[in-house]
Amino acid sequence: MAETLENQILHALGQVFDHDKDKNIVSLGIVKNINIDAGQVTVILEFERDDNNIKKIYDESEKAISEIPGITKSTIVTTYHSENSETSSQNEKNEQDNSDNINPNLGTSKIKFILMVASGKGGVGKSTVATNLAIAFKRIGLKTCLLDADIYGPSVPTMFDINEKPQSDGKQIETLNKYGIATMSIGYMVNDDNPMIWRGLMVMKAINELISKVNWGEADIMIIDMPPGTGDVQLTLTQKLKVDGSLIVTTPQDVALIDVVRGLRMFEKTEIPIMGLVENMSYFVAPDTGKQYPLFGEGKTESVAEKYDYEILTKIPHDPLILEQCENGHPLTDLVPEHKVSRMFIELAETVLKKLKLQRLADS
Ligand code: ADP
Repeated sequence: MAETLENQILHALGQVFDHDKDKNIVSLGIVKNINIDAGQVTVILEFERDDNNIKKIYDESEKAISEIPGITKSTIVTTYHSENSETSSQNEKNEQDNSDNINPNLGTSKIKFILMVASGKGGVGKSTVATNLAIAFKRIGLKTCLLDADIYGPSVPTMFDINEKPQSDGKQIETLNKYGIATMSIGYMVNDDNPMIWRGLMVMKAINELISKVNWGEADIMIIDMPPGTGDVQLTLTQKLKVDGSLIVTTPQDVALIDVVRGLRMFEKTEIPIMGLVENMSYFVAPDTGKQYPLFGEGKTESVAEKYDYEILTKIPHDPLILEQCENGHPLTDLVPEHKVSRMFIELAETVLKKLKLQRLADS
């Protein structure tokens, strides 16, 4: 069988070495995301720190990818964790803990609960889960808003079919509302041409605007569709907002699960409670027999969950309807709420809400 383009890219990047560590950049987890769109490839490389290696690895990766036939354009984005991230995280947290305002950085908006939907790597269905879960919270009666902070591949404009630009009076930015959800996306704020080439300060400025300038009004819950991985953008978001919980979305593949562990560590470090794991594309249901077929093998997510003592909250099947509805810009949970998968999202919303409330009680 012909190798998929993603596998060819992974193989090519597997030949690029971090010579200091004597390991290739795939096994070191530096390759954070591979996004392929009609022959155009974007690769995200995430480093622990800024050092001379980055440039060398960048050049070698670019060369390795350019040799793969069928790629019309490639963009490599490099990010790294800043040296003082942890210290500043702690300082800001202490400041927040002493404040009466639940989320001082959210401007005048008042939001009861904030939930981050994160993933170790891209393409596992994080945005699919975030959008359907937002709708599910609305369905169980919560006033819900959705912040799409995925700078590498904002999905909310597509998944909600929103093509407008948000209104702003120069001080505040208004949300765009659809399907009963107030949304804001980094995708509304960039030109379609190439959001991927955003770098360092520009990204941080946009993230800060998303946090402090958006007029969310009052809401019961905010879902944040996080960028994949554990870089500086993720740290900024976790530092600036007092987040009540996080969900980590994964597929039961080894490559996805290795990065889940990093995600768990990031949330543990920032003291954001991890509500649990969401396994996506776990199995395929044969439409004729209803029989379930595991797609990537069984028991892998369980072993990670057991080892780190986290719960798998749900297992969402691979369902062509999910894909279709995402592409058509109307999430399945809103379009067909009685569908089996929609019901799974609604049950997930109920479980998470219960956990958030219990935790709030325990903290008070
Ligand atoms: P991420 O946010 O992790 O990058 P997305 O949510 O954008 O991932 O999903 C990647 C692709 O996989 C999208 O085309 C989406 O429609 C599809 N997808 C996600 N989950 C499922 C599923 N359970 N069944 C079918 N397709 C899915």
